[in-house]
Amino acid sequence: MSPELTAAWKEIRQGLLGDHRPQAWCLVHPVGVNVAPLHDQLVGFLLCLQPINGLACSSCDGCHFYRSGTHQDLTVLSPEGAAGMIKVDSIRGMIETAQTTGSLGGHRVITIVPADALNVSSTNALLKIVEEPPAGTFFVFQTALPGKLLPTLISRLRMIRVRPPSPEFFETEALHRNLDVSDMYLGALLLSEPMAIIDERDRFELAKSVLDVLHQVRDGVDPQQLIKRFAKQEPLVVLIAFSQILEHLIRREKSALLRLGFDGPLPAAPMLFKVLDRVNEMKLQSLANISVNLPLALGVALAAWGFIWTKVRN
Ligand SMILES: [Zn+2]
Repeated sequence: MSPELTAAWKEIRQGLLGDHRPQAWCLVHPVGVNVAPLHDQLVGFLLCLQPINGLACSSCDGCHFYRSGTHQDLTVLSPEGAAGMIKVDSIRGMIETAQTTGSLGGHRVITIVPADALNVSSTNALLKIVEEPPAGTFFVFQTALPGKLLPTLISRLRMIRVRPPSPEFFETEALHRNLDVSDMYLGALLLSEPMAIIDERDRFELAKSVLDVLHQVRDGVDPQQLIKRFAKQEPLVVLIAFSQILEHLIRREKSALLRLGFDGPLPAAPMLFKVLDRVNEMKLQSLANISVNLPLALGVALAAWGFIWTKVRN
């Protein structure tokens, strides 16, 4: 496991071996970071009938059935249907199962991945059992978008936050995956905050698109024409991308601006920060599940972005 996953496992292990073992866990990870090894290690430990030194023994029946994907006491809840949500009916079915005794006499484990695919009614249906799970029943939630979970659910979970990898680790990974330097650079901007796009290619495409829009608006193109290209994206994802890229451009000031093609005279920093503040405000609203009219809100922020560049040109 990577150093980030190892650090998270240390925290989990303390909880598992402590006096009050949490029965509802939530692995929170940056998008693009594969937490499957951590998830497997936790679920494997919980299903093992005789763990040794805080790890699954890998030889008991529990371990055998888990490894072969046939464990009867493991319930996997994942998104269904076109809307990609975890449905309330699945939750009700799971609750019934969870009340029965496990087949091996060991623990019962319910995994909910991604947890941000729970809607309000499925979350509400879950609250009681997560608050007081039957003896021997454990929950493992996983999400890259913890802001989308209802606070009533979060307060019942032991949150384990996986740190984003170091830039060096990311660079090595990107090289390994044959991504060019500019992709690597843009991708790194988007690593430090959870995003709803899991696929790395999509994330790079979005980053490039955001950068392109910032260039074109600077050169005088009408933002409304350009915003249309984000129509199919989730507003929160688009806002996070704009926020990350603007933040990077502004905090690194000249070097980042020049590197990404914003040459010539530069606007004063306070003006740039105003645009960032506006985007961040919308991002927070969106994280709090307040719906944001993206074309309108982003249009205003981008109009301000275009305006500050005309000021330095004239
Ligand atoms: Zn075992």
